[in-house]
Amino acid sequence: MCLHQKRTCACGREEAFLFHRDNVLPEEVLLALYCPVCAREVDFDASTMIRDAGWILEYDMEAARFYLARRTSMARVSPEVIFDGDYCSWYGLTPRDLEESARLNRELEPLRKRDLRRYIEEMRLRRSRRVEELKAHGWRKALR
Ligand SMILES: [Zn+2]
Repeated sequence: MCLHQKRTCACGREEAFLFHRDNVLPEEVLLALYCPVCAREVDFDASTMIRDAGWILEYDMEAARFYLARRTSMARVSPEVIFDGDYCSWYGLTPRDLEESARLNRELEPLRKRDLRRYIEEMRLRRSRRVEELKAHGWRKALR
């Protein structure tokens, strides 16, 4: 099962939808979340944190190692492994991707009813345009 939950950043300005692959890591493993504004005040520590397009996620590495050792055969656990392996990262490609996808679905719903083939075409086009945009802004999950 893959759970997602919503977290507010440290300053309270932003929120993010988070994804926990196979529910291996509990949500407490994410110690703190910093949006591009509150991230400016953070003393970045690469041993516990990962940066993505201005955001910072800070993990409880000891807890992460414990839970990952129980469920996987992973030898080295780093913030990159946690994020890139989707054990605790964005739901979708960015903090708000879930909402953006829902918005796009709503917008294209009338087209889906009218012309399924065009809908699929349009969806594919919009998605790939969006991924290109995200890549240009350096979003990690869009780049991989
Ligand atoms: Zn913030």
